[in-house]
Amino acid sequence: MKLYNLKDNREQVDFETAVKLGLGREQGLFFPVELPIITPIELSKILKMDFITRSTEILSRFIYNEIPKEILYQHVKKAFSFKHPLKIKITNNIHSFELFHGPTLAFKDFGARFMAQMILLFNKKNESVTILTATSGDTGAAVAHAFYDMKNVKVVILYPKGKISELQEKLFCTLGKNIKTVSINGSFDDCQKLVKEAFNDKILKESIGLNSANSINISRLLAQICYYFEAFSLISEQQRKNLVIAVPCGNFGNLTAGLLSKSLGLPIKSFIACTNANDTVPRFLKNGMWNPKKTVSTISNAMDISQPNNWPRIEELFNRKKWNLKELRFGSVSDYSTQNTLKELFKLGYVSEPHAAIAYRLLKDQLKEDEFGLFLGTAHPAKFKNTVEEILKNDIALPNELKTRINLPLLSYNINPNFSKLKEILLER
Ligand SMILES: *Cc1c(COP(=O)(O)O)cnc(C)c1O
Repeated sequence: MKLYNLKDNREQVDFETAVKLGLGREQGLFFPVELPIITPIELSKILKMDFITRSTEILSRFIYNEIPKEILYQHVKKAFSFKHPLKIKITNNIHSFELFHGPTLAFKDFGARFMAQMILLFNKKNESVTILTATSGDTGAAVAHAFYDMKNVKVVILYPKGKISELQEKLFCTLGKNIKTVSINGSFDDCQKLVKEAFNDKILKESIGLNSANSINISRLLAQICYYFEAFSLISEQQRKNLVIAVPCGNFGNLTAGLLSKSLGLPIKSFIACTNANDTVPRFLKNGMWNPKKTVSTISNAMDISQPNNWPRIEELFNRKKWNLKELRFGSVSDYSTQNTLKELFKLGYVSEPHAAIAYRLLKDQLKEDEFGLFLGTAHPAKFKNTVEEILKNDIALPNELKTRINLPLLSYNINPNFSKLKEILLER
């Protein structure tokens, strides 16, 4: 698989290099030179396969020349070795697609665990690798668990202090061993800036084998394509005809993967790009002006991002496929409306959480009569226990993944958004 740098098309790399580098020159994102196509006949065969076989088949379309299918299958199997996504009926024409049944209770397990497998596979000489990543909540946990206790891998995770939920923090800041967590006195965007600075420091990068695990890493995006096919395989012929998928967006990796699944040939009629008050993209789609504002904190904190990293890939994909951005549906939802929506869903017998509720809200408001809608459940409601309990006035049971960590002490460092401080931590043995 060949990929080019969106900021400098002359830089072209293979999949292995893109996985290892994360970003290209000038912090440019990598994008596939060729966009594979699955024909309708192949698609009907693929949809009948089991999740692991099908996912291998899809990923193979991109990376067949670098990883033989049999080997890829083994890694996909290890990466996706947890409960598969579930489709839950909410109303006749709206179902939720729950992606949060992995070890860290968020859809990020798919991308992070596949990426960990790829880094293992490509680290043939067992060199030491440092994974540096910024998280607005769920990436950190997924990445930490995916790499936990792996030989020769050190993981450093930055997150904005006080801006992720207590349980989210417990899930990954209590692990120890090869996992170091750092709370930053600042916003998620400050964390992303520090990561970029580290990658710009060539000497540092070489000496510690720096790798990013943000949703900018191409391996994570490819992995996420797979569950859109799973969703499609679970719905009826009738529902497939006019399928609309609402995606709760932060860094826009999930939506990028969805759009890539469509470019492969999965006939999804439309996507809704759903945000909270951090609405840079909805405003852009409305008036054509890219005008990020200061990030504001909301109850859907994993989406508190005003400069979404993956957006250039979405624009590139639309250009390459000659799709019109006007066809991308969008909307933003306030905290107030999110709370009411959680209550509305609860009345329908469904306990949700703020991120999925935003997607449900926009889907419900925008879905046309002849359409069928799926909204993505990106995290388990228990991860936002306090918020959800307060809104619904109802207790939420903790799943085992959280129960086992809740009483463990937090092991995080705390620093100001200051690169030299971060550097010390990165260089520590
Ligand atoms: C990360 C995350 C999102 C946003 O996903 P992106 O791929 O960054 O757009 C939405 N909801 C939850 C719960 C998340 O953890």
